[in-house]
Amino acid sequence: MEPLTDPFGRLHDYLRISVTDRCNLRCIYCMPAEGMQFQPQDEIMSYEEITAIVEALAPLGLRKVRLTGGEPLVRKNLEQLIARIAAIPGIDDISLTTNGLMLPAKASLLKQAGLSRVNISLDSLKQDRFAMITRGGDVAKVLQGIEAAHAAGLSPIKLNVVLMKGINDDEIKNFISLTLNSPLNVRFIEYMPIGSASDSWRQAYLPLETVIDACTAAGWTTEEAELPSGNGPSQNRRVTGAQGTFGLIHPVSEHFCDNCNRLRLTADGHIKACLYWADEYNVRPLVQDPAAVQDLFRRALGNKPHNHEMALALEKKAQSHTPTARRMSQIGG
Ligand code: SAM
Ligand code: SF4
Repeated sequence: MEPLTDPFGRLHDYLRISVTDRCNLRCIYCMPAEGMQFQPQDEIMSYEEITAIVEALAPLGLRKVRLTGGEPLVRKNLEQLIARIAAIPGIDDISLTTNGLMLPAKASLLKQAGLSRVNISLDSLKQDRFAMITRGGDVAKVLQGIEAAHAAGLSPIKLNVVLMKGINDDEIKNFISLTLNSPLNVRFIEYMPIGSASDSWRQAYLPLETVIDACTAAGWTTEEAELPSGNGPSQNRRVTGAQGTFGLIHPVSEHFCDNCNRLRLTADGHIKACLYWADEYNVRPLVQDPAAVQDLFRRALGNKPHNHEMALALEKKAQSHTPTARRMSQIGG
C-alpha cells in the first residue's frame, strides 16, 4: 500500500495521540487558571476506537505512536491501550509524554504493557517556581516520577523544559548539570503561541541561542550528540565528557517543518496534519471502516501546508492560514 506522504514528499510514520484533554495541573502556558471547559466523556475516543485507527494506519507504514494529552496518565488503565497498540504488527515504538506525577504508581505497569520510553515535562527545579508555573504542582513528585521511570527500564528518559524569559531562563545551567552524571536528555523547547499569540507570550518567548550562551558562561565546551531513539526535531548536544545530552527544539525561530513526519489525533478524534494550523478532519465516525480512515488521513496530508508560520506571530505579521484555536492540552504538544 502507498505510504503516508504529503505533497512535499514527507513520509509520515509517526502519530501523536491525545487520549484526554483533562489534566491534574494547570501550566501557565497551556491552560487558563480557571474556566477551562473539558469535553464530556462521550466525546472522547474509546480505547477500541483509538486502536482501530492505529490498526488502519500500520499497513501504510505507521511505526511510532506517542500518547499524550492533557495528562495521559489521568485516563484510567492507560496500560490497556498501550498493550493493544503494542500488539499491532508494524508498531515498534510506543512513547508517552507526561507531567510525571503519576509515574511512581504506573511506570512498571506501563513498561510491562509495552511502553518503550517517556518524555517528562519539568520547567523548574525550584519548588516555589514549579508550583507557580504549574499552578500547584509538587516538584518532588516529578523527581520521584523520573526515578520510577528509570527503575522500570523506560529508556531513554527525556525531560521537556519550556524556556520562558524572566521565568526559568536562569535555570539552564542547573538543568544541563543534570546530564553530567546521568543518561538523561534535557530538551529545551521554545515557548509556542498555541491557542493565542498574546503579548504575554511575546514577552516570555526566548530563542534558544540563550542555551548555548549559558553553556559558554558556565565554561563548558559542547559537542554534537546522536540519540539511540533518533533526534526528531531536536538538535542534540553533550557537554564534553557528560553521560547525558541536551537538545534544542526551535519550533518558532527555526521551524523544523522540512523533515516533519508527524500526524496528530485529538482526544475527540480529529486529525491534525500540522500542530499549528486550524485544519482538522473528524475521523471518529469512520473508525469501523479502515479504508475510510486511511482515505481521510491521506486527505489531511494532501492539504498539509509546508510549514507553520509561528515566527510571523512574533512580529504580529499576517499569516497564510488560520492558527488553531485549540489549546495545547487539547492537541497534545
Ligand atoms: N501533560 C503532559 C505533559 O505536560 O508532558 C502531556 C501534554 S503537554 C500539552 C505536552 C508538551 O507540550 C509538554 O512538554 C508541555 O510542556 C508542552 N507545551 C504545552 N504548551 C506549550 C507551549 N505553549 N509552548 C511550548 N510547549 C508547550
Ligand atoms: Fe497539563 Fe501538560 Fe498542559 Fe501542564 S502542559 S497543563 S501538565 S497538559
